[in-house]
Formats: sequence, C-alpha cells, structure tokens
Amino acid sequence: MSYLPTAADKAAAKEQKHIDRQKKIKANVDQRIAQATEERGVFVVITGNGKGKSTSGFGTVLRAIGHGQKAGVVQFIKGTQWECGEMNILKQFAVKHHVMGTGFTWETQSTETDLAAAKVAWQKSKEMLSDETLDIVLLDEMTYMVTYGYIELDEVIEALNNRPKMQHVLITGRACHRRLIELADTVSEVQPIKHAFKAGVKAQKGLDW
Ligand code: ATP
Ligand code: MG
Repeated sequence: MSYLPTAADKAAAKEQKHIDRQKKIKANVDQRIAQATEERGVFVVITGNGKGKSTSGFGTVLRAIGHGQKAGVVQFIKGTQWECGEMNILKQFAVKHHVMGTGFTWETQSTETDLAAAKVAWQKSKEMLSDETLDIVLLDEMTYMVTYGYIELDEVIEALNNRPKMQHVLITGRACHRRLIELADTVSEVQPIKHAFKAGVKAQKGLDW
C-alpha cells in the first residue's frame, strides 16, 4: 500500500531540515570561534560614502566605556555651528578628548591655519596612540587629513604599528587611503543606498550630529 505524506509529515520533515541546517551552521561557527584565540588590539577602519561611520565609531567607544575601559577621541573635522551629541555624553566619563581647532569645515578656507590645526590634532592623536592607559582610541574623520596631505601617511602607519599591544583604534572618514585599509584588521565600507539629505531634509539634531 502506497503511503502519501500528510501535512504533518511534511511539516516534520521541514522542521528536521531546519534543525540539520542550524546544526551545520553552529558547528561551523563553533569551529571558527575555537580558531580565534588571539587577544590583541584591533585596528578598525570605517569608510565609504554612506551614513553611519562616526556613529559607529562613537558607539564603539561607548561600548568600551560601558565595560569600564578608558578611551581617547580626536575629532578632525567638526562644523562650527554643530556641537557633537556623543561628546556631550562621553565627556562625563574617562575620555581624553581633542577637537581640531579653527572650526575646520568641509569648505576649507585657509590652508595654513587648517594645516597647523591638523598638526596639533595629530600630535594629540600620537600621544593617545602611545598611551598605555587607553584601551581604545577613535580618530574621527582622520582619513581626510591624509588625503589633503596634512598628515604624513608613513607617520600614521608608524604610530599605529607602535601603539600598545592591546589598544584598539578606530579611524573613520570617506576615501580611506589604500595603505591604511591594508594595515587595518577590520574594514567596513558604508554604502549609501538613500539619504534624506538628497530629498531636501537638512541635518537633524540628535540624528546627524
Ligand atoms: P554619521 O555621523 O551620521 O555616522 P558619517 O560619519 O557616516 O555620518 P560623514 O561622511 O562624516 O558621515 O558626514 C557627516 C554628515 O553628513 C552627517 O551629518 C551625516 O548624517 C551626513 N551624511 C552622511 N552620509 C551622507 C550622504 N550619503 N549624503 C548626505 N549626507 C550624508
Ligand atoms: Mg563622520
């Protein structure tokens, strides 16, 4: 007598297939977790033209602080009219902080003052990158300084290579230099699929700054 599977049989078979697939995934993940045994500072680059680079950087700093770690933040580009919401919070914690002076904006006015401000900000960054007490350092919008030639790329690479072994570093900004991408352990490129700005929405407090 031929046997036709019932709806219940089909559901059970589907469930078993799902369980088998999940088991395979788990075995795969477990194996990869077992292989990742190294503990050291990680260099992260968050680049690309989409929204979410700085918020990711600041979010990671917040994550570290939530674990009682110490952080340093240098902001290389900061509009004159907008304060930074994240920094208003982070300043209340053990965060070393430097904002590049001169109100450097996207539409740079004076190369000379910008260059001087960039050098000071880079000096502060180097201090943080050699500070054993800092668990994590965020260099927000630093990619532009390298692109403009305000900071020597070789110097950046040297400072990153010589930093404390356990220190994490995050660099954000568009068009990150190829050599920094090569040096980084983790690189994410944020792709713009849509942006409200393109539809005429101005930068919104709390969402964009
Ligand atoms: P966020 O600070 O929101 O994480 P971001 O760091 O990825 O953004 P930046 O390239 O630093 O973006 O740009 C700074 C400002 O420009 C932010 O206010 C951000 O919302 C806005 N912005 C980001 N991506 C775009 C885009 N593709 N088009 C227009 N404006 C953008
Ligand atoms: Mg940004």
